[in-house]
Amino acid sequence: MTVNKVKKPQFSLKKITKALETGSFRKVICGASNTSEKQVERLTLVYSLCGADVIDIAPQKGIYTAAKRGIIKAYELAEKQPGIYPGFNVPAIMKSINAGKDKHFRKADFNLQRCVQCLECVKQCQSGALTEVDGKTSFSSEKCYGCASCVEACQHNVITTTANPFIPEKDKNDIGKFDAIEIHTGNSSVEEVKTFLEFNKTIIGRAAFISVSIDSTRFNNKELPEYVNPVIKLFSKKIILQVDGISMRGGSKNSSTLQTIAAAAALQEEKVDAYIQLAGGTNHLTSEFVRLAGLNISGIAYGTFAKKIILSYIEEYEEKEFMANLYKITAVAGSLIKN
Ligand code: SF4
Ligand code: SF4
Repeated sequence: MTVNKVKKPQFSLKKITKALETGSFRKVICGASNTSEKQVERLTLVYSLCGADVIDIAPQKGIYTAAKRGIIKAYELAEKQPGIYPGFNVPAIMKSINAGKDKHFRKADFNLQRCVQCLECVKQCQSGALTEVDGKTSFSSEKCYGCASCVEACQHNVITTTANPFIPEKDKNDIGKFDAIEIHTGNSSVEEVKTFLEFNKTIIGRAAFISVSIDSTRFNNKELPEYVNPVIKLFSKKIILQVDGISMRGGSKNSSTLQTIAAAAALQEEKVDAYIQLAGGTNHLTSEFVRLAGLNISGIAYGTFAKKIILSYIEEYEEKEFMANLYKITAVAGSLIKN
């Protein structure tokens, strides 16, 4: 008896390198700490069908398998209906790890005894973590992704942020399966990044390629390359440099994308030896601004902006309805991350 082997969808490093070299690289950040497995599975399915190169997820248990399920479903659909989903691509799954106090790895923390119930924080929270229940502020830690908009909104010093646990611990040096790694440098010095890399070399050595995320708001245009250049030299292969601007704010304002564009321009001016990829406040206008600024970047990562729009469809539908509307949802998603 012959057994038909099921082909496993596998990302292509060659294709990813080509996308980086030609400036068409697209990453979708879909696994922040507030995203459920069902959401990640559907987001991955949709963004695989419209050709994303990388799906970026948080290193939480179950999220990797959820993303894999999304890729397999997309692969099967694209095999069956190649004319319907011609843009399908098998994305690499990237996990983020934290080399410093990075803002992507925190959650809000409340001292409720001091809360005067003014509800100002509720107005600012985009994730639904803060809501009004019977005239009082209610907080869901699960839905919080640590953007800190509520910290700024609170005039009564009720809210702070605490680090959440998605960090490799000293005695638990394993974050499960992944294709690629992103190292968030947070507020680390170059020396601290170096120590982090040495300590986590087993994890990092398993990655097919590496991205390093830099919070550009820490530096002025002169300081930025002074920090970035020695960080790049810590790696033996060419890395993706994620130039993070105003992150986790939805990227909906025209101006939200300008911080990452200005920082990338400063790095391009210095001819840094890395694939420059924008993130943080990126939206439907980013590509156009890149063209207008004459930037020669490798790609763009889309986070809250693209995720929020697609999640509104994903959360609305039961499975049958979701699948019936998949073509329409994929068309919208594709328009959000197009070059
Ligand atoms: S505003 Fe941001 S940090 Fe505050 S609760 Fe909402 S998601 Fe969390
Ligand atoms: S802004 Fe501060 S004081 Fe006002 S409801 Fe929120 S936590 Fe309480």
